[in-house]
Amino acid sequence: MTIFSKIIAGEIPCYKIAEDENYFAFLDINPVNWGHTLVVPKKETDYLFDLGDSELAGMVVFAKKVAKALKAAVPCRKVGVAVLGLEVPHAHIHLVPITNEGDMDFKNKISNPSPERMESIAESVRKALSEA
Ligand code: AMP
Repeated sequence: MTIFSKIIAGEIPCYKIAEDENYFAFLDINPVNWGHTLVVPKKETDYLFDLGDSELAGMVVFAKKVAKALKAAVPCRKVGVAVLGLEVPHAHIHLVPITNEGDMDFKNKISNPSPERMESIAESVRKALSEA
């Protein structure tokens, strides 16, 4: 079971953003910028591009809803998208609110993000989703 499956199962806490039958979104615990969110399929597959066509398409549509809510809730110019998958073998899309290129530098993470601010951001994004 991957760490993301444990998060989805509620065995490990997370700053949850959204879920539906097939997908789950939560804040990255080591964000490169405030609001950095991960979108994952509930079904375990390591590599994003090994997902079936309809699974991948559904994931992108789910990510689109999350990205729109992120843009509404977190001050930014756009929401950047990245796929790395070098650390956790459970497919995921990184969504990062950005204003400039440096906001998406994966070598430059926010140090010790406060739980209060992380929860406050998650709550704002959930609210934006509920109003969409
Ligand atoms: P990568 O697999 O290279 O795309 O990186 C995995 C990402 O998952 C990193 O940005 C981590 O900060 C993030 N991550 C790892 N464990 C957790 C967790 N328990 N909760 C939230 N994010 C996590």
